[in-house]
Amino acid sequence: MAKFFEYQGKEICSKSGIPIPEGVVANSPEEARKAAEKLGRPVVVKAQVWAGGRGKSGAVKFADTPDEAEKVAAEILGMEVKGLEVKQVLVEEKLDIVQEFYAGVIINSAQEVRGPVLMFSPEGGVDIESVPEDKIAVMNVDVIKGLMPYDTLNMVSSMGVKGKVLRQVADIVFKLFKAFQKMDCRSLEINPLVLTSDNKVLAADCRMAVDDQALFRHPELGIKIGREFLKEPTEFDLIAWSFEESDFRGTSYVAQMATPEEVAQGGYVGYHGIGGGAAMLGMDALNKVDLKVADYADTSGNPTASKVYRVTKLIMSIPGIEAYFLAGFMMANQEQWHHAHGIVKALREELPKKPGFPVILLLCGNKEEKSQEILKEGLADLDARIEIYDREHVYDAKFIGGRVKALVDEYKKERSAS
Ligand code: GDP
Ligand code: MN
Repeated sequence: MAKFFEYQGKEICSKSGIPIPEGVVANSPEEARKAAEKLGRPVVVKAQVWAGGRGKSGAVKFADTPDEAEKVAAEILGMEVKGLEVKQVLVEEKLDIVQEFYAGVIINSAQEVRGPVLMFSPEGGVDIESVPEDKIAVMNVDVIKGLMPYDTLNMVSSMGVKGKVLRQVADIVFKLFKAFQKMDCRSLEINPLVLTSDNKVLAADCRMAVDDQALFRHPELGIKIGREFLKEPTEFDLIAWSFEESDFRGTSYVAQMATPEEVAQGGYVGYHGIGGGAAMLGMDALNKVDLKVADYADTSGNPTASKVYRVTKLIMSIPGIEAYFLAGFMMANQEQWHHAHGIVKALREELPKKPGFPVILLLCGNKEEKSQEILKEGLADLDARIEIYDREHVYDAKFIGGRVKALVDEYKKERSAS
């Protein structure tokens, strides 16, 4: 799921006709001061991170003057909220809140529902899970029939909201659903939706997550990698993502783990796991012999040979790695010959550039015998240190880790001698 910051969600809401407070994003305390000056009234300064509960963690603070705004922004910027560093704050006009509502849409993928669920509560501002059930109106929206304006009027009025406020709130809930659909969201929540003392209803917070598979329909969102990715993607990450984006058969999850400077220090291996758990095991095995991974790669879910080939090529392109390690620590039920074919092709192209390079391959599971044959035959004539293992060693991470270490040491010795 692609997640968004509060201010980005609010922008989407605003474009859909939902009123939002006036606000400015700031990257530094000075910018926060300028924002407060521009707004010219008391403000609220809010951490922009992919986490809720900012209020409770002290990541939402009020300021009456630009001076104060600068001061609280300095406190919030650089703070960690649920393990995420705050790099930006949203400086907004402070609202005089009379009542807090909750309005949200999520996808319920349960068998009986499999569709969007619209929710509204007159007791917002807190974790929606902690609101009593009878205070939340829930509606499974029939995507064929669609949502009608009277649906949200009924829904909001069933929770005791009356008069002018009813119309405003129902209209916002209706627009929220429309925005959810238009943006292919997995979830879109306003908590709190607030009523102010001058009888305005506005979205005081917003959390939005968009379905990864739909990101191609939203180039305007500027998401470079359609999956949860906590750092700014590197060129390596972007190349890896292009494999995934252009071919959804099986998954290839690949990320850079070390900078070129770090890899140049030595002790780094080009790493290729099969399946998440197996990949962890392999990394542990390396760490225990004081080797590190230059990258993380996991190809699983029966990927095509072409996908595995591209991943292997990318790993082999990392300058300064001292081995290529395929950590297939699992009896995968995917057809392993796709891995065998892809890896053989990539290594046949890359190994001639690296004489004596260590290659440790552990591959087992479905179609194992044939896959082993493909690996052995395909790599037999190459000038490299190649060791190929099968199910006999699938539980033997310590042994495999030891072999990687031994080959890396030999390779380094040979290279320093020449
Ligand atoms: P969250 O804790 O991460 O969900 O952050 P919110 O944006 O929801 O802010 C937390 C709480 O701060 C809200 O529930 C409000 O009670 C309060 N809050 C946020 N903005 C304002 C504001 O402009 N005025 C007032 N009085 N309270 C606010
Ligand atoms: Mn909130």
